[in-house]
Amino acid sequence: MSTDTSAVAERFTQLYGSEPEGVWAAPGRVNLIGEHTDYNDGFVMPFALPHKAVAAVSPRTDGLLRLHSDDVDAGVTELRVADLTPESDRGWTAYPSGVVWALREAGHEITGADIHLASTVPAGAGLSSSAALEVVVALALNDLFGLGLRGWQLARLCQRAENVYVGAPVGIMDQTASACCEEGHALFLDTRDLAQRQIPFDLAAEGLRLLVVDTQVKHSHSEGEYGKRRAGCERGAALLGVDALRDIAYEDLDASLARIDDEEIRRLVRHVVTEDERVERVVTLLEEGDPRAIGPVLYAGHASLRDDFKVSCPELDLVVETASDNDALGARMTGGGFGGSAIVLVEAEDVEPVTKAVEAAFAAAGFTAPRTFEAVPSAGARRLR
Ligand code: ADP
Ligand code: MG
Repeated sequence: MSTDTSAVAERFTQLYGSEPEGVWAAPGRVNLIGEHTDYNDGFVMPFALPHKAVAAVSPRTDGLLRLHSDDVDAGVTELRVADLTPESDRGWTAYPSGVVWALREAGHEITGADIHLASTVPAGAGLSSSAALEVVVALALNDLFGLGLRGWQLARLCQRAENVYVGAPVGIMDQTASACCEEGHALFLDTRDLAQRQIPFDLAAEGLRLLVVDTQVKHSHSEGEYGKRRAGCERGAALLGVDALRDIAYEDLDASLARIDDEEIRRLVRHVVTEDERVERVVTLLEEGDPRAIGPVLYAGHASLRDDFKVSCPELDLVVETASDNDALGARMTGGGFGGSAIVLVEAEDVEPVTKAVEAAFAAAGFTAPRTFEAVPSAGARRLR
């Protein structure tokens, strides 16, 4: 479906009978490095995709919330803002309704809205279509109701919507990335205090490209596995007497590991502590203007997720292995794992050979054909009209 501003506005007018008050956009994201660190109070480093959710919205004063998505085969859903309650709705409307609920619960008077959405962020590919949907709605309501909330505050409310209303135990990264990223930059985010820094990541200017390879794999057991990893990390922190694994310094890793008997917990701790160090290393390299040097750090991050955190899958491993065999600078799985997407950093001239090699390797292994696209670090949430 088209996310062209006028097309989305026109569709709104068809659906609701008058022109929208405005049109907003919020992007999906890719995490460059810093995986499974967000629930350990650690570091992440996402950047925004050109793929985005676009919302045409008008405010209402009669308590009605009307929702429509071009990407869902259903008509307009009509709700009353006063009746919204967590987990009452498990369908797609839970994302926008959850945002209205979270805003109202935080004391902001949202008296209703007409919302029409269209998105180019593929759903369930680990690129955060859900956060794009939440953030675009939050930003639109922030503007229309004059709430004056900052990007990081909207991100917090969207996270609350997803945690409590939708019922998904996600961290703060996705919503912050969608709300706060800037074009040509990656966002260095400290998930403990939400301190952020924009890090130059203008791939095109450096003759580099970053490929996103969507393996099209969706593992059904990923929620339970996520919960287990999270609980294991909490046990590790408790065993080491810290609030979160973020508090274990990289220099103290070996000494800390020696204090843990449980082999599984040791692996989880090692991943989180080394991953935080990798994020800091990538920040330093990019700030020094040496983007090619992040390649080996990406490979090391993948090995850690595969061997220590054990959240990869054969398809993701095959992308990384094939990338490495075909002179890619770096590659790793991105997102929670058990499927979803991998990223591959290549010289501009290697886009085609690497893409073809990955496709051939998937075909030879009998896997579903992957979907590959180039990710250009793009703008965060904004008003389009
Ligand atoms: P991800 O965020 O990685 O894409 P999630 O499972 O968190 O995956 O979110 C995907 C869900 O978000 C979809 O199942 C759907 O309910 C909702 N969603 C995403 N994009 C749209 C859209 N354009 N219209 C309606 N719902 C959407
Ligand atoms: Mg999501």
